[in-house]
Amino acid sequence: MRPFGYQRADDAALASHHPTGQGQTDAAVQFLAGGTTLIDLMKLDVLRPERVVDITPLKASHAAIEVTPQGLRLGALATMSAVADHPEVIGGYPAIAQSLSLAASPQLRNMATLGGNVLQRTRCPYYRDPSWSECNKRTPGSGCAAIKGFNRQNAILGVDASCIAQYPGDFGVVLAAFGAEVELVGSGGTRRIAFEQLHRPAGQPHLEHTLQPGEVIVAFVVPSGAIARRSLYLKIRDRQSYEFAIASAAVGLDLEGGVVRQARIGLGGMAYRPWRAQAAEAALVGKPLSEATASAAADIALRGAVTHGDNDYKPELGRRTLVRALLQAAKMEA
Ligand code: FAD
Ligand code: SF4
Repeated sequence: MRPFGYQRADDAALASHHPTGQGQTDAAVQFLAGGTTLIDLMKLDVLRPERVVDITPLKASHAAIEVTPQGLRLGALATMSAVADHPEVIGGYPAIAQSLSLAASPQLRNMATLGGNVLQRTRCPYYRDPSWSECNKRTPGSGCAAIKGFNRQNAILGVDASCIAQYPGDFGVVLAAFGAEVELVGSGGTRRIAFEQLHRPAGQPHLEHTLQPGEVIVAFVVPSGAIARRSLYLKIRDRQSYEFAIASAAVGLDLEGGVVRQARIGLGGMAYRPWRAQAAEAALVGKPLSEATASAAADIALRGAVTHGDNDYKPELGRRTLVRALLQAAKMEA
């Protein structure tokens, strides 16, 4: 690992005065939360920050889990395990608890934070190994080794010729489906954005996020309601634990007499960024939730998928994952 400077930030406003250049994959200043992504990538020589700003002291003020009639407010410094194990999250927002408890390992979940989780980097093997010269995400303009190389895990939705990296997280897929918001503190004060605006679309792969330089994520805000209560996260992976998704679906249903009043659908393991399938949601409204309607919605959700050989299996796997998730959610007591 290369030498780097270390600083502690005792409050979010102070942390925000460090110009992290957060949107860039490899910014010169990086925040350190649980360190389970950052330190890994520094050891691999993928991330080479000159300075690391330790935001773990913010746990004192930004790790609370607050449940109100309006919704859920999750401090960004809360650990994945604290949220996954919280009884009111498990009861009122099952998809959130499941997305976190099915991720990584118990040790990692005890260390990793929600803020770091949503900003984790792709697991594309060419990104994580600097001995490959072609990677637009690591080295802008160098090309994309995955497109003609090994791309079994790579994305099929929201990709373009510059990058087919898969967004690897689980929790972010649920936040996208639920229409959550993100609370940010920066040198200009506090602001809220829709979670769906946090990750950039494909086009400039070296730019990951829309945070302003130095902005710190302090909380996630999730609306309450029928969708959140009747929700689940289904994760398909190569082995049953300690593995990233090759396909996943976050679904939430508001049903009346078996007919869909509202539906929410997020897809993971498939897309360049946390993916919400709004056209598929709209196709379900006003219809009974059956195998036929779920299947038609899944066809819409996977429309436009682009594969590159090794990942040709993904559209069908994604389709089946979504159908199963919708049918399971329809059977839930809510
Ligand atoms: P850090 O490593 O500290 O930070 C990550 C990035 O986010 C850094 O760039 C940092 O600057 C930035 N950052 C952190 N907090 C903030 C903030 N509050 N505001 C602004 N920027 C911030 N994840 C899954 O979802 N599913 C899995 O199945 C899964 N499996 C894994 C398996 C392994 C072996 C490993 C190592 C990781 C796995 N992960 C998985 C990823 C893991 O969940 C993330 O590494 C973790 O959540 C990152 O959180 P952290 O607090 O450690 O972030
Ligand atoms: Fe790099 Fe993206 Fe191509 Fe992977 S898919 S090699 S991250 S440019």
